[in-house]
Amino acid sequence: MHTSYIELSKSAMRNNVSYVRSRLPEGTTLSAVCKGNAYGHGIEQVVEMAEAAGIRHFSVFSSSEARRVQQSIRHKSTIMIIGYIANEELSWAIENNIEFYVFEMDRLLAAIETAKAAGKKAIIHIEVETGMNRTGFEENVLPLLFDLLRENKEYLQLQGLCTHFAGAESVANYLRVEQQIAKYHVLYDRFCNEGLQPKLRHTACSAAAINFPETTFDMVRVGIMLYGFWPNEETYIYQLRQQEHKGKDPLKRLIRWKSHIMNTKKVKMGEFIGYGTSYQAPRDMHIATIPVGYAYGFARSLSNLGRVLVRGRRMHVIGVVNMNLAIIDINELPDIQKGEEVVMVGKQGRQEVTVASFSEMSSQLNYELLTRLPLDIPRKIVK
Ligand SMILES: *Cc1c(COP(=O)(O)O)cnc(C)c1O
Repeated sequence: MHTSYIELSKSAMRNNVSYVRSRLPEGTTLSAVCKGNAYGHGIEQVVEMAEAAGIRHFSVFSSSEARRVQQSIRHKSTIMIIGYIANEELSWAIENNIEFYVFEMDRLLAAIETAKAAGKKAIIHIEVETGMNRTGFEENVLPLLFDLLRENKEYLQLQGLCTHFAGAESVANYLRVEQQIAKYHVLYDRFCNEGLQPKLRHTACSAAAINFPETTFDMVRVGIMLYGFWPNEETYIYQLRQQEHKGKDPLKRLIRWKSHIMNTKKVKMGEFIGYGTSYQAPRDMHIATIPVGYAYGFARSLSNLGRVLVRGRRMHVIGVVNMNLAIIDINELPDIQKGEEVVMVGKQGRQEVTVASFSEMSSQLNYELLTRLPLDIPRKIVK
């Protein structure tokens, strides 16, 4: 027995893939971003569900994630590393047709050398700096980059020209994103004029793909929306206001995180519950413990704030969240028994604990809460 379990809905994945596709121009490749252990959902399960939904392109951050995707794919899907790969691992990547970003000279030179030694082309995506100021080739090195790309055509396949936007989910960044788009166009033209036409142009994450349709180009790299979440509240409101949705969320969450009641107890009015004095029983109370704490991704900041579902009803977390367990107030349903199902995230009956509400309370982003779900919670694909 584990202390908690994650269920992942295959039909929700299919729904989200088809919704995202409906927002893309015909022929745009949809790359499923599964960095951060597929936003905490589990790479193996997500790859299986995504391929079943027709996805044939996966983006990961690192080479270790790329290996996990590689072991999970059942089709001829493409794997692209958008972040870290050590030079020593380039030969593995090249041998296995794993594509990777190149945003600095050292990796480029290593890729050329490795490809020479392997007698096989490295399939690369050149990332250019357009204003995010994170990774990407700066303009002043472009002449050198062009020379290297031309001189080593035998060893390099220029698969993509890419960039990433600095906050396409918020209108506050509108100007900056627009400037990035303009810059990207200029840079793309420069590559083409140098005789270096990349096969794919790709710039958009979830927020850019739906808020700035002109950024979808040949491929989009979509993460959070495939898992059924909006990039942020602002994008959700903006999109939902559009008539076509009639106020109904077109995305469906994949994840349900559940546990069970570990123990129940009665506590007298005036007693403190749990460590210290953060919660004092305001009346005689029935309480229950659940075997999830901050070591399992149930944030400590949910102390006295979190909500979980039991029998389809919302129950409050009381006292501080411990390393391995949390305490809830079950006064409303005092006959709750050991072993009954508790839902920390997702639906139970007609109620739902959304990651959004959850993360607002623990002042984490969707992204952060999800990716903190530990690797060793068992994950199961359900209908
Ligand atoms: C994380 C990431 C994405 C996907 O972002 P979402 O908001 O989850 O869609 C796309 N591109 C890059 C470079 C990223 O790092």
